[in-house]
Amino acid sequence: MEPEPLSDPRFLGYRRRLIEEIRESGTDSLEILQLFDQVPRHLFVPEGVHPRAYDDTPVSIGYGQTASQPSLQAFYLDVLKPTKNERVLEVGTGSGYLTALLALTADRVYSVERVRELSLRARRALDQLGLANVALLVGDGTIGWRKYAPYHVIVVSAASPSVPSTLLNQLADPGRMLVPVGTRKEQDLIFVRKEGGNVTQESVRERCTFVPLLGSGGWGDSGSPDRRR
Ligand code: SAH
Repeated sequence: MEPEPLSDPRFLGYRRRLIEEIRESGTDSLEILQLFDQVPRHLFVPEGVHPRAYDDTPVSIGYGQTASQPSLQAFYLDVLKPTKNERVLEVGTGSGYLTALLALTADRVYSVERVRELSLRARRALDQLGLANVALLVGDGTIGWRKYAPYHVIVVSAASPSVPSTLLNQLADPGRMLVPVGTRKEQDLIFVRKEGGNVTQESVRERCTFVPLLGSGGWGDSGSPDRRR
């Protein structure tokens, strides 16, 4: 039988080791490290990869997709610093692990995923943790989620050929966005800031490798099953 996840001392120990690795990778904000203590990553990955759930590595989650490396997600949180009164749009729910971390720091999280099965699995894990301030949508996230725009923070977890203009339009002023931009093989992580009508962009991390953002504002058509808004 699956052990009771939150209290299982084995998983707790693994989580502490992961937090140490995240700290060593350069994120030493106590607030951020505590988030990783609160969210059991194994709930967000398929059972077959549970033994690797607390390694600081990307983990395969099926459908050709991967959950990002935890220390990279810590870096996202460190750069974006969402606060309790901010709305966040996430493009690429994937496992839902970053969604959960964001839900603990922000007012509400709106997360779009093109693979329905991943969105459903993320929903189950988020429900298990009782995170009620998350709305999930199946569809092409490159066109954002107009209904709840503008967003103070936008997080893109898949690689794009450019900063998707629709997402830029759905970014609040002031607002912050992180998006990996480059080729399909290699990207720079671009931090976009909107303030007083001005938009600035800077590369905050070079040579990253993300799965491709597939959609009208990314690498061509997503073949998304549900494009409604
Ligand atoms: N932060 C997530 C990252 C998952 S990988 C995690 O750690 O689990 C990126 C995800 O983006 C994949 O699940 C992929 O299916 C999704 N994706 C790719 N293109 C997309 C699009 N246009 N709209 C929504 N999701 C997309």
